[in-house]
Amino acid sequence: MPNIKLTSFGATQEVTGSCHLLNIGGFRLLVDCGMFQGDRDNYKKNWEELPFDPKDIDAVILTHAHLDHCGRLPKLYARKYLGKVYATPPTIKLSRIVLEDSFYIMNEKAMKLHLPKLYSLTDVRKVFVSWEPVDYYKKVELSPDVSFKLHNAGHILGSSIVEIKAGDKTIVFSGDIGGEHMPLVKDIDYISKADYVISEGTYGNRLHEHFDNRNEKLLEAVKRVTSNNSTLLITIFALERTQDILKVLNDYYEKHLDFSVPAFLDSPMAWNATKIYKESLNYLNEEAQESLKTDRDIFKFPHLSITNNVRQSKNINSVSPPKIILAGSGMAEGGRMLHHFSRYLGDAKNHVLFMGFQVPGTLGHKILNGSFDFNYYGRSIKIEAAVDQIDGFSAHADKAALLKWIGHFKQPNKVLLSHGDKDVLEDLATSVREKFNFDTEIIKYNTNITLN
Ligand SMILES: [Zn+2]
Repeated sequence: MPNIKLTSFGATQEVTGSCHLLNIGGFRLLVDCGMFQGDRDNYKKNWEELPFDPKDIDAVILTHAHLDHCGRLPKLYARKYLGKVYATPPTIKLSRIVLEDSFYIMNEKAMKLHLPKLYSLTDVRKVFVSWEPVDYYKKVELSPDVSFKLHNAGHILGSSIVEIKAGDKTIVFSGDIGGEHMPLVKDIDYISKADYVISEGTYGNRLHEHFDNRNEKLLEAVKRVTSNNSTLLITIFALERTQDILKVLNDYYEKHLDFSVPAFLDSPMAWNATKIYKESLNYLNEEAQESLKTDRDIFKFPHLSITNNVRQSKNINSVSPPKIILAGSGMAEGGRMLHHFSRYLGDAKNHVLFMGFQVPGTLGHKILNGSFDFNYYGRSIKIEAAVDQIDGFSAHADKAALLKWIGHFKQPNKVLLSHGDKDVLEDLATSVREKFNFDTEIIKYNTNITLN
């Protein structure tokens, strides 16, 4: 039987930069190659040389299209990786949008940090011609000893759990695990047989609010704009959360035809991603499929405008309240929302809604935690608007959902935890040991783990 060794080069005791290398008797299989994100020091890690030679990699599997999982793929090609990247068809389409957007953002970051370009547009295109689409549950043979299957991770459209057969061993990578009862994607697949489980643990120490409350809270804010004659700003993440929110708003507007408050989706990237949701309807859950029988477009409703260019974005300002603006970025680290903040944060009537967890250090986190002023290109704006957060639309499983998924395995040799901050993973590891009595280890950066 082949010797199997796991070495991780990212998402080790942190939440970004997912990159796991399996060496199966000399066959080198990489699962994800994501970008490091967060503060300046973390971003700089993307410029460090990869601690392995991409030329030696035999195959890459991508679990899903989030940047912290796919962002360093072009760098692999810049360093002469010549093989394929296996992923589901929606992951391939969404990654294209994410990688194109990231190319320009990374160039700006490089200039600011006085660093060379991370990779060229040619390297990004090399990724685009190397995709190998794989549907869920289809077995792919990579070598006489190595095969894999993708299962639904219920996290974002097309997201996968990877089940790898290496000789007589089964190794399961969770990728990112979805929240429960997501508005659009199907609920996660549970797997019972594995020798080794590599699980994410992003929210391994906390519970999300109940999914019933998230829609109610969003719609309350939506309805409040009419009584206040105000503007509601909703910060969005382009993948999944935008489409989830559009679906909830769609259902409300379609049912309340007298509700005519103009809504603006001010994010071309989010709209491009939404088009891919529309092309991938068989990946959506039963409820969404059911809605499609009566509503041809579950993301577009009366009074919703899509802005495609800067001029249209600026024109939103001339529309009198009440109005609703959805724009990125999700943690207010950039994007068109900053311009809207400058216009609307100073008025106590208005309302900002952050749609999910805000990483410490981001502007979103500062505003949510009582920052008094907003600095807009040197101009200080006093924050008077109400600020709120809805965390129930998170595409990530909370602690209860993670334990439910891990607990489904029948006595694995070991559970290995990644993709979570150190204290969060320690909390999750303790619960996994106490609840299921599984041997559990937290993965450390560039440290070999034998899986035999
Ligand atoms: Zn993710």
